[in-house]
Amino acid sequence: MKSILKDSTNIRLCWIKAHVGISGNEATKKEADDINVKFSKKWLKNYLQRLTLERWQARWELSQKARYTYGLLPRVSFDRCFGDFFLNQFMTGHGVFPVHQMKFYGKSDLCHCERDQGTITHYLYGCTSFLHMRQAYFPADIFRLGLLDLIALARARSGLRLMIQFLLQKCLA
Ligand SMILES: [Zn+2]
Repeated sequence: MKSILKDSTNIRLCWIKAHVGISGNEATKKEADDINVKFSKKWLKNYLQRLTLERWQARWELSQKARYTYGLLPRVSFDRCFGDFFLNQFMTGHGVFPVHQMKFYGKSDLCHCERDQGTITHYLYGCTSFLHMRQAYFPADIFRLGLLDLIALARARSGLRLMIQFLLQKCLA
């Protein structure tokens, strides 16, 4: 085919009917079939999933955004899904926390107790107004635990949700 094209000075392109015995056309069709490698759906799905995961991971590592959440969850995953409105605020630092409210809405970044900034750390470990809630819902060794440890415990999750509900009421008041 290449040699025919090289030697020809007058080439005309036109449509021809397939499978009617035109020798050059049949040979080209066979050649195309020979190089057509078939992939199974399962293989393609796995391949594309792996490729997506690798690119997602690379973007997650290189991004300058959401570094707090990156610190908690450095590896991306299709299996992990936090759909909880309250817990997601702890996971992202967004939402009702005064430091976030100041950044986006210009409100005060002080906690309602006025002893410190309204950060996640302050609410989890320091704010005196949540002392009873911490004692009721968190393990006694909370100071040795991180946020993910607390989220893994059903009772502590309830306490975290109550904290956000309380802060929402303060925020909207
Ligand atoms: Zn406080």
